[in-house]
Amino acid sequence: MKNIYENLGISEEVLRFGEEILAGLKTRFEEIDENAEYNQLKVISAMQKNRVSAACFASSSGYGYDDLGRDVLEKVYADTFHTEDALMRQQITCGTHALGIALAGNLRPGDELLSPVGRPYDTLEEIIGIQPSVGSLAEYGITYRQVDLKPDGGFDYDAIRAAVNEKTRMATIQRSKGYQSRPSFSVGQIGELIAFLRKIKPELIIMVDNCYGEFTERIEPSDVGADMVVGSLIKNPGGGLAATGGYIAGTKECVERAAYRLTTPGLGKEVGASIEVNRSFFQGFFLAPVVTAAALKGAIFAANIYEKLGFPVIPDSVESRHDIIQAVTLKSPEALIAFCKGIQAGSPVDSYVDPVPGDMPGYDSQVIMAAGAFVQGSSIELSADGPLREPYNVYFQGGLTWPSAKLGILSSLQKLTEAGIVRI
Ligand SMILES: *Cc1c(COP(=O)(O)O)cnc(C)c1O
Repeated sequence: MKNIYENLGISEEVLRFGEEILAGLKTRFEEIDENAEYNQLKVISAMQKNRVSAACFASSSGYGYDDLGRDVLEKVYADTFHTEDALMRQQITCGTHALGIALAGNLRPGDELLSPVGRPYDTLEEIIGIQPSVGSLAEYGITYRQVDLKPDGGFDYDAIRAAVNEKTRMATIQRSKGYQSRPSFSVGQIGELIAFLRKIKPELIIMVDNCYGEFTERIEPSDVGADMVVGSLIKNPGGGLAATGGYIAGTKECVERAAYRLTTPGLGKEVGASIEVNRSFFQGFFLAPVVTAAALKGAIFAANIYEKLGFPVIPDSVESRHDIIQAVTLKSPEALIAFCKGIQAGSPVDSYVDPVPGDMPGYDSQVIMAAGAFVQGSSIELSADGPLREPYNVYFQGGLTWPSAKLGILSSLQKLTEAGIVRI
């Protein structure tokens, strides 16, 4: 083992340090494996119930009428998330697009959208019109209201009660912290918030941005009352095999309205050829619980290594996990760059590429990104990025298999030791 790691550039000291950390994580990893087992069985049950067969892997072209695989897989999604229906398409280009059609499909002029959990994910700002944007909900006369979290990260129930009014038609709840420093919410916490909102206004449509959260727990927000859960297939539910796509699982009515927005009124879910993707979407969803578990182990391993070396980590080494993102505060540009170089060097694809900081649209500082992925931009695969500004946070996620996640993290530590930034 030592030799093969050495061939990959990992020194004996770094490997030993990693193994010492791992020895303390046995129980946690067992819990993650049990969780994966539960979710794996949930997905297999849904596949068996819907009689998934080889015929489902064929694909349609043109209009895509009567696409067996696509229609069956949507039922598999619905049964896994315990919802009435689901829309799962390659024509949904990313998570932002899925959230966009869920919102635009279900809101009408004069309605108000409420975020009771503070500022939503960056890309939603232009959809909603928080940042003026052509075609935003604001342009259609849909207003937006936001209630920030309390300083301790909790829900501000009094302010939420005060914010709900006769126009409030929909609430959006983001499960993962995304690039904020608040904690990610457990499904249990989301359930409490949903129950509170329902008490104030029973007919409210409640959407949960489920990105990065799928299969990290045994239940999903749709099990605790959400009308829609929404996410990206190049994150957890694609299992690393889906090359593109997004999903919305929810009530029949909500999903239908979103489908009319994705395609067009009258056509809805009936059209949308599955050109060559059905098998990878089925197989990716089948693998997703175990792939998510690998990513979770990687995140916990990284948290434990870097916390031990004195870097602040969110979530910390012992906290329970509700998504696959790990933030590490690296405190200097040199450390951030070394970390990203290590992740890149430990990747199966583009390992010889040297990531350098660069300018990015929408950022006021340079950003460095590391990703050696089979699917471009896939963040269920090993990847890391961070803006070059104080406090030099890196956001790390993914790893399709646990050994590959482990290698990537050891490789990041190797680069930090070689640069003389940490001593182990
Ligand atoms: C990734 C993500 C999205 C959507 O992002 P895309 O890059 O468009 O897929 C939305 N919300 C959260 C919390 C996310 O992590």
